[in-house]
Formats: sequence, structure tokens, C-alpha cells
Amino acid sequence: MPPQKTIPFTLHVRLTKACNANCTYCSSFMENPDKYMNLESYQKSIEFFWSKLQEKNINVTNLTIEYVGGEILLVPPEVLKSQVLFARDFFKKQNVNLSDGAQTNLIGSKRKVIEIQNLFDGRISTSIDSFTDQRRVGDSAKKYKVIMMTRENDIMREEQSLSRVPAVFTMDKTSIKFTEDEVNKARRENRNLMIRPVFIGGSSIESITPDELADVLVSTFDKWFMRSMSILDPHMSLLEKRIQTKLNVDPMYERSYCSFQNDCAAKSMSLEPNGDLYVCQELADAGKGKIGNTLNDEWDDLAWTTMSKRGENLDSDCLSCPYLKDCQGGCMMHAIQDGNGPYGKPSYCKAWKAIFARIDKALEDIPYDRIESWLKRLKVKQIAS
Ligand code: SF4
Ligand code: SF4
Repeated sequence: MPPQKTIPFTLHVRLTKACNANCTYCSSFMENPDKYMNLESYQKSIEFFWSKLQEKNINVTNLTIEYVGGEILLVPPEVLKSQVLFARDFFKKQNVNLSDGAQTNLIGSKRKVIEIQNLFDGRISTSIDSFTDQRRVGDSAKKYKVIMMTRENDIMREEQSLSRVPAVFTMDKTSIKFTEDEVNKARRENRNLMIRPVFIGGSSIESITPDELADVLVSTFDKWFMRSMSILDPHMSLLEKRIQTKLNVDPMYERSYCSFQNDCAAKSMSLEPNGDLYVCQELADAGKGKIGNTLNDEWDDLAWTTMSKRGENLDSDCLSCPYLKDCQGGCMMHAIQDGNGPYGKPSYCKAWKAIFARIDKALEDIPYDRIESWLKRLKVKQIAS
């Protein structure tokens, strides 16, 4: 019998929009800061979400639930725990392999941070910005950095780990010039890092241009490739894709980076604290393309179907692009943000072409056995730490 096909799906769950920090580029509005989704609403939401997947014949085998904020540490720990356990039990009964994790800013008491670390068995991630003052507690960027570092040290002691918490670095007009510094720092500190351009969501922030993104992707690839013992994304996920496409070698890492998929509607959903459903967090933050509400039994089939057809309606440039298989036309939200609609080509296309071309050149210049040896050493180091 052939092996059963794995059908992955990601659900982002935002239980609260409350946050204890004050970051200039946060794409999430701080609405109703004292509110969070209670257990009963969460149960109803999960049941509704699952019923819609069945209705749409999306036969998920592997589900990832990522609990995000606002700040997840502001949900009372006993409430969060009951919700997480409910979802684990629910999906076990559906024979779905569930993997869950949480994103947190680590701004909380040691007890709370260690509790969340233990609840998710270490599957937590954070966001960093080491060189600007954009992440703050109250008005103080220093306070933010000190608390975050102290809690990271607490986690590393608890886990007896040498690696820092995996992190996202968001590039806007101010922070982008520190991207190389951030990548070098992550490399020194044993931190897996994802760099990504800011999405224009709830706050007034200045995004980066395609040229700026292209330059920073290529320059950081050169700092990381064949040198680093930490994972850097999207570089690692794109490198693996190109190795698979060009050299027909199976990927060594299971990486995914959101901006390169055109079947988002069949692969992801995002739940808001009030029950609103979107295809992803980025669309939720921008308030674009709401597809329903779990608490009011609402479902907008037209909105969902429209977005689910992106793959069939890509821009003609994408259809003739040599990177189509691995880029998939880029990110629908970027295209919408650019005013090109759900089927459009994002202006970041220029940046994606630049990094794909750089990776292809590296694969031509360096014999694969050397690249493979670096990837294997990197993997051993990841497992050991
Ligand atoms: S690189 Fe550009 S043209 Fe090619 S698939 Fe991606 S978005 Fe489309
Ligand atoms: S629209 Fe973009 S950010 Fe949202 S799921 Fe699709 S690729 Fe990811």
C-alpha cells in the first residue's frame, strides 16, 4: 500500500490582543486589552474550525497550532493550559497529528515564562530587535531588553541548553540597516532566526522597498551560507527548496516560510479573540478577507473560495518564471498590500528573484558534497543543543 499523503495545516490562535509591551512596528492593534477568549469560546471555535475543514474536504493529517498574541503571557496560565489541553485531546480523537507552540515576548515573571516553556515542551519562539529602541516596555527599550534577556537566561538554565530561543526579526525602515548585525549576533549566540519584512497591519509603519529587501537577503545569505551553525530563514527554507528542485535531493530540514505558497486558504487559518476567522494572521492584522466567525457560526464562502483560487489565477509573469515551483507567486497578502488583489504579483518579487538567483549561483559554484557536509554538521549541532 503506498504511504498515506501527509496533509499539513496551520492554525494561528490569537487568544488575546492585550500586550504588555509597546513596539512601534507591531501589526496588531491593542484592542480590548483586558479581554481574552475563554475556554468555552475556544472549544466552540475549534469545533467550528474543524467542521469547516470537513465541509471543504480538507483532510488534514498534520495540524500545527501556534498560539500568538497580543501577548500570550497575559492569558491566565490556568485558562491557557485548559485550552491547550482541550485542543490536544480534541485532535487526538480526530486522529490528527498535532504539534503546538507559542510565540511570546518573554516579558513576564520567571514563573510564568517557565510555565509556558514547559506547557509547550520548549516549542516557543520570540521576536528580537537588539539594535534599535523600537521594542519597549512603557517608554523604555532598555527595560524590554533586560527583561527579555533575563528570561531567556532562565529558560536556558532550566533546559540546560546552549541555544537561545528561536526568534523573528522584523525589518522596517529603521531596523533594516541592522539586519546583518542581527544575523551575526544570532550566529554568535546560537539562535535560529527568521528575518521578514514588516507587514502593514494595525500601526503606522514604514515598510521596506523591494530593492532594500533584495540587498539584505543577498548580503545576509553570504554571511550565513556555509559558515553558520544556526538556522536562518527564509534562506534555509529557500536553499532546501532549490536543492530539491535543481539537484533532486530530499530536504534535510522541514522548514517553511510563509511567503511562498499560493494555496494558503487550503493550508492555514487564523482565529481572532472575538472568533473572527481569516486565512492568516497577516490578513487578520490588515483586516482583509475575513472568512467567518466561529462564535456566530458565520462563514463567507465567497471570500474563502476567492482566496483559495490564487494558485489557478497567478500573474502571467509568475507562470513563466523559472522560480515558480519554489516561489509559488509569493505572498497573497503582500500582493493585496501592494494593491494588486488576491491574484496579483507582489512587488517583493524583485527581492525573491534576487535571493533565488544567489542561491542558484551558490549551488553552481560549490560542489554539493561540501554543502551537504555543512548541512549535516549544522543538523548535528541543532540536535545537540
Ligand atoms: S519570483 Fe516573482 S515572478 Fe517568480 S514566481 Fe515569485 S513572485 Fe512570481
Ligand atoms: S497570504 Fe502570505 S502571509 Fe498569509 S498565509 Fe499566504 S503566504 Fe502566508
